Amino acid sequence: MSNDEARSSRAGLLFIVSAPSGTGKTTLVERLVQVVSNLTMSRSYTSRPARPGEQSGVDYNFISREDFEAMVRQGAFLEWADVFGHFYGTSKADTDALLGEGRDVVLVIDVQGARQVRNRGIPNVGVFVLPPSAAILEQRLRGRSKDSEDQIRRRLQVACREVDEYSQYDYVVINDELDGAVERLASIVWAERSRVDSTRPDAERIIRTFRHAESTKGKPV
Ligand code: 5GP
Repeated sequence: MSNDEARSSRAGLLFIVSAPSGTGKTTLVERLVQVVSNLTMSRSYTSRPARPGEQSGVDYNFISREDFEAMVRQGAFLEWADVFGHFYGTSKADTDALLGEGRDVVLVIDVQGARQVRNRGIPNVGVFVLPPSAAILEQRLRGRSKDSEDQIRRRLQVACREVDEYSQYDYVVINDELDGAVERLASIVWAERSRVDSTRPDAERIIRTFRHAESTKGKPV
């Protein structure tokens, strides 16, 4: 049985992917969940208004600032943060439900949210995605022409602070080329799925078949 087929016998793994804005982390993770089965990208809640083409329940759960604050008071978030003036958060109930079904989950969240998950002692595998250089990040931010000059400056300033946090993560992936970066991310998921702790329930089940074979050896069938 492959690790993939064995998914239901263990709780899911929680992956965190963080990167400065413009690094291409969302595209990367969207591709990742297409190529790795049983891996789900979490859908965050945000008070940011939807951009043209974005849909509530697909890209994010878009909610009002008041509703977001009410969820904060109810303790509904695994983590949440104010990013560029809008609130973003990961639902605890949604995440627990997926992990409980044995699905592996990826949170694409900023460095503040990742820090909260770590500080709360929630087991996770952190991946920091770096652009090849600051100049290339700036070029990408300009190229996607989503932001004003002011916003680009602000994103670059925030990126300077965010990249300093890379060493708090377990892995680093440099997004120099999409296919290669997706492959490296997928390898991380497979490596983590193959850890002794992740495979223990299935390994134990297989070991029991050996004990059973040993105890029935020589007995007539
Ligand atoms: P955008 O508005 O461009 O979709 O996202 C802005 C930033 O918010 C990105 O860095 C993204 O990773 C981060 N973000 C999205 N969802 C969450 C979340 O649930 N929690 C946290 N802490 N950050 C998030």
